[in-house]
Amino acid sequence: MQHSSTQNVIVIGAGLSGLAAAHELAQRGIPVTVLEAGDRVAEPWRARHPQLRLNIHRHFVRLPGHQVPDRDGAFLRRDTVVDYLESCAADLKVPVRFGVRVTGVERAGAIWRLTTDDQTYEAGQIIFATGRDRVPHMPVWKGREHFKGDLIHAADLGDVARLSTKRVLVIGAGNSGGDVLNHLAQSDPAEVFISVRHGPAIVPTRVFGFPLHRAASLFAALPVTALDPAFRLMQWLFFGNLARYGLTSHPDGGGTRLLRDGVAFAMDDGFVAAVRAGRFKVAGDIAEFRPDTVVFEDGRTFRPDTVICATGYRTGLEPLLGHLSVLNDCGVPLHPDGAVDPGNKGLWFTGYRPVFQGYFHAAAASARRIADGILAQG
Ligand SMILES: Cc1cc2nc3c(=O)[nH]c(=O)nc-3n(C[C@H](O)[C@H](O)[C@H](O)COP(=O)(O)OP(=O)(O)OC[C@H]3O[C@@H](n4cnc5c(N)ncnc54)[C@H](O)[C@@H]3O)c2cc1C
Repeated sequence: MQHSSTQNVIVIGAGLSGLAAAHELAQRGIPVTVLEAGDRVAEPWRARHPQLRLNIHRHFVRLPGHQVPDRDGAFLRRDTVVDYLESCAADLKVPVRFGVRVTGVERAGAIWRLTTDDQTYEAGQIIFATGRDRVPHMPVWKGREHFKGDLIHAADLGDVARLSTKRVLVIGAGNSGGDVLNHLAQSDPAEVFISVRHGPAIVPTRVFGFPLHRAASLFAALPVTALDPAFRLMQWLFFGNLARYGLTSHPDGGGTRLLRDGVAFAMDDGFVAAVRAGRFKVAGDIAEFRPDTVVFEDGRTFRPDTVICATGYRTGLEPLLGHLSVLNDCGVPLHPDGAVDPGNKGLWFTGYRPVFQGYFHAAAASARRIADGILAQG
């Protein structure tokens, strides 16, 4: 069977970015269908570890037309996010086809042709909303294949309680590394090492009880030239000189790293105190893995039971879009948040650029931009 129309819009992905885009299009009376690889909404959130809470304040968790449930306090629990996305999808007056994975994209004159596992779809406009954190990324370290311990990506963390009494190595202390470390700080692992090339930009989750992320719009209003020193000053004020514990600063500041490189800062909820108290030790980059030992570049060694690689994610878009020259070297769309690409009319992206206020806020803004852009094309 083949669906064909030069008028309609197809959204690929029913995560928060795709749901926001579909909602805005439907509001403007534009016909839209959502294709979702999973069998239900929010699969990426369900797969995340059960202790996860959003690191963004609930004030910024709002998809168009939907209030968040009044529970959990400032930072919503994972299961509340799942419930919220389910309710957004249930209220959406748009067909969502579950279990449909897009496997190919090509331009056919004025329309776009999408190949899926079982059929072809055609649309005048296609919107990619497949997620920036699609594919866990794990570097290839020397000897990694010989390591006999448990080696996982942070995406597969599972219940942190199972790490109690274990010797744990966390590689990377960015946004997800910080989350893992915060949970470890609140449990009782036997020993923890952190491997970092550069220390991350770190901000406290709360300042005198006030959830700092509530002020994210203030940060978002600052130019990068002011943001980088502001991050450094905050870190120094709240944590002192972390370089003496091995957490040296990245040459670029937290603002540049987020806005230019898409690398979010770490939020401290206990791990910095564990570092300062000597509970967590910081080492440099990994030199090599041996069957039961990890050797760091500074010459130290550690025998971990479990290694958790908080080494980031990739979009996984190259196989679908590599032939269209719409991605940068890291596989991130060149127009990541709903901007018009004059060279690829009818091809849109949402959810691939982090902002201070978080992905919900970014998704709502991109959705409006895309819907207005499509309407303007007539
Ligand atoms: C551990 C972790 C914690 C995070 N915590 C936060 C946080 O606290 N705050 C925050 O703002 N962000 C957080 N993020 C970022 C998070 O990824 C986004 O907030 C959010 O999930 C992005 O939503 P999305 O809709 O853009 O992408 P996703 O939620 O990834 O949704 C994409 C959807 O597209 C579908 N899809 C993918 N490929 C295809 C295909 N080829 N065909 C059809 N469907 C497809 C997927 O099945 C999925 O349902 C976190 C990320 C991780 C990994």
